[in-house]
Amino acid sequence: MGFTSAEIIRPLVGSILQNGRWAHAFLCHRCLVTLTLEQLGRGYKDYEVRRGMAKLLESPEALVYMRAFPCAECQDTLACLSATWRESRQRRRRLRRAANNTLP
Ligand SMILES: [Zn+2]
Repeated sequence: MGFTSAEIIRPLVGSILQNGRWAHAFLCHRCLVTLTLEQLGRGYKDYEVRRGMAKLLESPEALVYMRAFPCAECQDTLACLSATWRESRQRRRRLRRAANNTLP
């Protein structure tokens, strides 16, 4: 599959962490691999998704990475990702900018 990795997994992990049951929770890389595989369906190997997940942990971009955090699903303290903090920080910044723009 070669190009598996980050490009395919990143938007899926992003949506898992932003919508539905796990919105704004911290999930460990193991649980995220499981959930991502569920979304991808057949045709993807778990080692491919694990490899992509490793890239996300290295370079989380819009996601929040915690090296050791209790996972909301399995309760183990592992490397976790979430959509929470940075997103709300961005939202605050946007709100502040919007407020400034309304000043004379
Ligand atoms: Zn977990």
